[in-house]
Amino acid sequence: MVDNIIRQIAIRQPDLYSREETQVYKDRKGDKMQEGKLALYFEKIENSKVHCHLCPHNCVIKPDGVGVCRVRKNIDGDLYSLNYGKVTSISLDPIEKKPLYRFHPGSMILSAGTFGCNLKCSFCQNWSIAHDNKASSYAVDVKPSELVSKAVETRNRGNIGIAYTYNEPSIWFEYVYDTARFAKKEGLVNVLVTNGFISKEPLIDLLPFIDAVNIDVKAFTPSFYSKICGAKLENVKETVEICSKNCHVEITTLVIPGLNDSVEEIEELSKWLSSISPEIPLHLSRFFPNYRMTDRPPTPVETLKKARDKALERLRFVYLGNVW
Ligand code: SF4
Repeated sequence: MVDNIIRQIAIRQPDLYSREETQVYKDRKGDKMQEGKLALYFEKIENSKVHCHLCPHNCVIKPDGVGVCRVRKNIDGDLYSLNYGKVTSISLDPIEKKPLYRFHPGSMILSAGTFGCNLKCSFCQNWSIAHDNKASSYAVDVKPSELVSKAVETRNRGNIGIAYTYNEPSIWFEYVYDTARFAKKEGLVNVLVTNGFISKEPLIDLLPFIDAVNIDVKAFTPSFYSKICGAKLENVKETVEICSKNCHVEITTLVIPGLNDSVEEIEELSKWLSSISPEIPLHLSRFFPNYRMTDRPPTPVETLKKARDKALERLRFVYLGNVW
């Protein structure tokens, strides 16, 4: 109970929470020294287990175990974030690359990512940092204040802020939360490029510091989400609905031959999006065989054009991605 109260204070009165610093702990199995940051959104339960509430997987984690995302670990009955301050990828990108086409067009954004993911999409385009266990070994340490300083330094190259991207930023929550708050104080914008599979409470706590999101709606059938991504469409829809009331939102759908490319499915997706707002931009992106999905060809450009035409019946802004 006391721990839950401490975590509430951390979120509601963040200046009372000691930030930036990670703790070093001893791995009980290997006697190995590791580093982590005490996580938010968990509760201690029986037998030194913890219950993580950061995403809808709601993992119950035994001592020394990790959650589905593999980046939150139970250490002696507390939950630690293993990727806090660990950066595997960083680049100054055009904002259109996120993709965000209707948010400060023509500007640049400092883009950073870590390792891990809470989904298991077999077509993952960023699997080397999302799913490869080796990714953590080449991460470099970058404190929130250091990433913000870098973003400020690159203002003269057109940078407007920080994008948390490349792998899934919601499972980097504590780091994103700390960095986004520092960035706001410097007048920078914060952007999330996310799969949208995050629980409602942490999302609502983070959104005051977020200016724009690109959310993957990977398909519009529950079966695609459960079979191919190990997640639920309903949770992603809820994230889109909440974000659209709080910040600029664009949506990306990777159109995969034979799986989510029917005109009927694109129609259902655009009908639902237009019920939130017909102004929400939709990016229909071309699939290329990758990771564990090598059994089908790249999406025919003709399929994408038909999908765009159908979506344009309901939405004002529909773009094709990965088409040259
Ligand atoms: S964030 Fe990770 S540990 Fe927490 S519920 Fe989601 S998958 Fe499980």
